[in-house]
Amino acid sequence: MEAGGKVKAWEETGAGKTEGTADMERNRNLDRIHIRNLEVFGKHGVLPEENRLGQKFRINAVLYTHTRKAGLKDDLTKTIHYGEVSRFMTSFMVEHTFQLIETAAEQMARALLLTFPAMEKIRLEIEKPWAPIGLPLEAVSVEIQRGWHHVFVALGSNLGNREEYLEQGIESLRNLEDCVVEQVSEILATRPYGMTEQPDFLNGMVKLRTLLTPWELLEQLHRIEQAAGRERLVHWGPRTLDLDIIFYDDCVIDTPELTIPHPDMQNREFVLKPLTELAPWIRHPLLGKTAARLLEEL
Ligand code: ADP
Ligand code: MG
Repeated sequence: MEAGGKVKAWEETGAGKTEGTADMERNRNLDRIHIRNLEVFGKHGVLPEENRLGQKFRINAVLYTHTRKAGLKDDLTKTIHYGEVSRFMTSFMVEHTFQLIETAAEQMARALLLTFPAMEKIRLEIEKPWAPIGLPLEAVSVEIQRGWHHVFVALGSNLGNREEYLEQGIESLRNLEDCVVEQVSEILATRPYGMTEQPDFLNGMVKLRTLLTPWELLEQLHRIEQAAGRERLVHWGPRTLDLDIIFYDDCVIDTPELTIPHPDMQNREFVLKPLTELAPWIRHPLLGKTAARLLEEL
C-alpha cells in the first residue's frame, strides 16, 4: 500500500507523463548556463554623443534550460550552444541602437527566447561601464528576468456560428505575437451555466506558452473577443466568443480585473473536461488537486 501510494504521488508530479503536461513541474528545477562579462561595443544611449561615438557594454546572462540529456550523452545538440548565444548577443547589440539599456535588455531577451527553443528563461544584465554622467561610478546596469509561461485558455461560444467563432478564436491565438499554441482539446457541447435560458455552448481548451504577462495576455484575449463581435451585455449571457485564462504557470492572482486560477473552474465540467484531456496531472495551486481529481469530484 505504501509503495503504491508513493508511485501515485510520483506520477502526480508529472514526472511519469509526457513533456507537454509535465513542463510546469520540470521548470521548477532548471539548470543554468552562465555567460559572464561579454564585451560589446555599441551605440545605445540617450545622449547624441553616445549614439555617434559608441561605448563599451558588458553582458551577463544566465540561461535556464535542461542540460541533463546533453550531459548524459555528451551531445551539444541537446543543450544551448553558448557560443551561438554570445554571437547573437553581440550582433544584436551592434545592429540596434536604443536609447535605454532597459530596451536593449527587453528586446534582446525576447529575441533570444524566440530564437533558442531550449531556453526556458533568461536572466540578462546589460552593464554600461563608461556611463557618461560625470561622476566616478564603476558601472551602471539593468538586470531583467524573462521566460516562457505555460497557460491554459478556455474557449466558449453560444451565439451565431459557434464552430466558426471557436475556430476563429483558436486561429487568433495561433497568430498572437510571443505566443505558441501547443495543444488544442476536442470541442464539446454543453448546456448553459448560470443563465439557463440561452442556446447550448461549445467549449474547448488551448494550451499555449507565452512571453506575455497575465495582464498583457488578458488584453489580447479581450481584443480577440471583440474582433469576434462580442458585446458584453449580460454577465454569463450569450456570447459569440469567451476566452478565459484558467491557469498561468502556477500563479495566483487576485485583482478586480484578473483572477487566476479562474475562480469558478472547479465547478465547471466544460472547463475541467477539456483541461483533463490536455493535462490530467496539472495541479490547482490553491486547491492542491489535479484536474482529473477535480473532474472526478464534480
Ligand atoms: P465570464 O468569463 O466569467 O463569463 P466575462 O467573459 O464577461 O465573464 O468576463 C468578465 C471579466 O472577467 C473580464 O473583463 C475580465 O477582466 C475578468 N476576468 C477575471 N479573471 C479572468 C480570467 N482568469 N480570464 C479572463 N477574464 C477574467
Ligand atoms: Mg470571460
